[in-house]
Amino acid sequence: MKFIVVTGGVMSGLGKGITAASIGRILVDMGYNVVPIKIDPYINIDAGTMNPFQHGEVYVLKDGTEVDLDLGHYERFIGVELTGEHNITTGKIYSRVIEKERKGEYLGQTVQIIPHITDEIKRWIRDVAEKRNADICLVEVGGTVGDIESMPFLEAVRQMHNEEREEDFLLVHVTLVPLDSGGEQKTKPTQHSVKELRSLGLHPDVIVGRCKRELEDSTKKKISLFCDVPAEAVISAKDADDIYEVPLIFKEERLDSYIARKLRLEKRDSSGDWESFVEKMRNASEEVTIAVVGKYIDVRDSYISIREALKIAGIHNSAKVSVIWVDSEDFEDFSEIEIEADGILVPGGFGQRGVEGKMMAIEYARENNIPFLGICLGFQLSVIEFARNVLEYDKANSTEFDRNTPHPVIDLLPEQKEVERLGGTMRLGDIEITIKRNTVAYSLYRKEKIYERHRHRFEVNPEYIDKLEGAGLVFSGHSDGGRRMEILEIPSHRFFLATQFHPEFKAKPFSPSPPFMGFVRSAIQFRREMNGET
Ligand code: GLN
Repeated sequence: MKFIVVTGGVMSGLGKGITAASIGRILVDMGYNVVPIKIDPYINIDAGTMNPFQHGEVYVLKDGTEVDLDLGHYERFIGVELTGEHNITTGKIYSRVIEKERKGEYLGQTVQIIPHITDEIKRWIRDVAEKRNADICLVEVGGTVGDIESMPFLEAVRQMHNEEREEDFLLVHVTLVPLDSGGEQKTKPTQHSVKELRSLGLHPDVIVGRCKRELEDSTKKKISLFCDVPAEAVISAKDADDIYEVPLIFKEERLDSYIARKLRLEKRDSSGDWESFVEKMRNASEEVTIAVVGKYIDVRDSYISIREALKIAGIHNSAKVSVIWVDSEDFEDFSEIEIEADGILVPGGFGQRGVEGKMMAIEYARENNIPFLGICLGFQLSVIEFARNVLEYDKANSTEFDRNTPHPVIDLLPEQKEVERLGGTMRLGDIEITIKRNTVAYSLYRKEKIYERHRHRFEVNPEYIDKLEGAGLVFSGHSDGGRRMEILEIPSHRFFLATQFHPEFKAKPFSPSPPFMGFVRSAIQFRREMNGET
């Protein structure tokens, strides 16, 4: 078994996650089983309680673990499905060690960061790699080298380096190569961060230099000289037009052959699937505009999986999807709105803010027969909007937003109330859903049983289902023996579909998400009709 560890220097936000995911992709293309692990040095056990305004999207794995959005990149690039074990946090490691200490497993020793915490980190990494039968285990250490929080993890990595054979361990360090005002590439920050790494006993095998432009030969030579790596191991990572280009940029830089040589990987059948996918992306001839009406739109990363799911569905339909981000709160000052887009998407969310504006967007899409996709909160608001404007239950609402509404069309089920009372959590992760035949949902999934990922607490109130269906809404997917509504659609509309689950978490380059496929296809069709091209 081999280990590739990815660290980052200089500053955060350099695309370490994309770098790790892209390295994973090129190894998969070489025929290897790659098992990724993300280390997040924060003390939280998981990302469940983290605010998207601060932290970007909370990504949900199939077992319901809430994680950093980098795990989403791993799933999409590497084409795997991960579980909570693939995400190590300081919180998880310390909990384990403290639990063992309480059970007396340390036999009276003083429990310390070295060796107890570091042993636990190494054990975790090796156990997961072994369990998943990894050829190569890819470990990304979050944060920046030099952060106090990441010290125990880097120390564990240092120990692993000593314990593994030379050909079984490779350290990739991602740094920034800024340009000065005259446009010259500066290597000092890279030199400093490598120095920092070395002071921790680690030496990089590969340096990935992030720069606006390709690294010049002279820059590579300088980094090579000062950081003590061969020039061919200095990889130029210029800003890419699209993240899916990065594995190809790395191949152009011959990172694949360098890794193969260093790790003594024998040649296996390689695949060109990724190249074809990127080729398709570059050649997408159709254009389509989707308005995403949400609340966290100013935070670039808060809807990253939705953006990727839209992009992937676009590529499979030979279309380039442009997303316009609309802040739903901006609608709330107006009585009437207009959204210029070929499709409208209302994503998930929590809390009252911006909710009325989102419902205005839903009403607009429903009334004007514009392709619509609602996700999670977007699903619940579609039900509320329908109840208010079609059933004329003026004050219909979710009890999340109005505890005393006369028409709680969205509410907590009794067992969820109990969970809440016990301080419990949301309904999370993969859940089996049954789809009704002869519906839009069935035509998209072509299956009766599907699994999609969840992250919510509230449900369609069973008492209102008949009334809603009587007025033209169809619940085409359900779970939990028919007690929970999972998909809704309006048959008289060109495309109006919403899901209680989050289909965006399962969209991958080679397996696009069915609801996103249907939505984007309908938006393309709508655009053509508007342009008189049908
Ligand atoms: N706030 C809603 C709920 O808890 C929707 C959650 C979401 O959109 N992820 O059910």
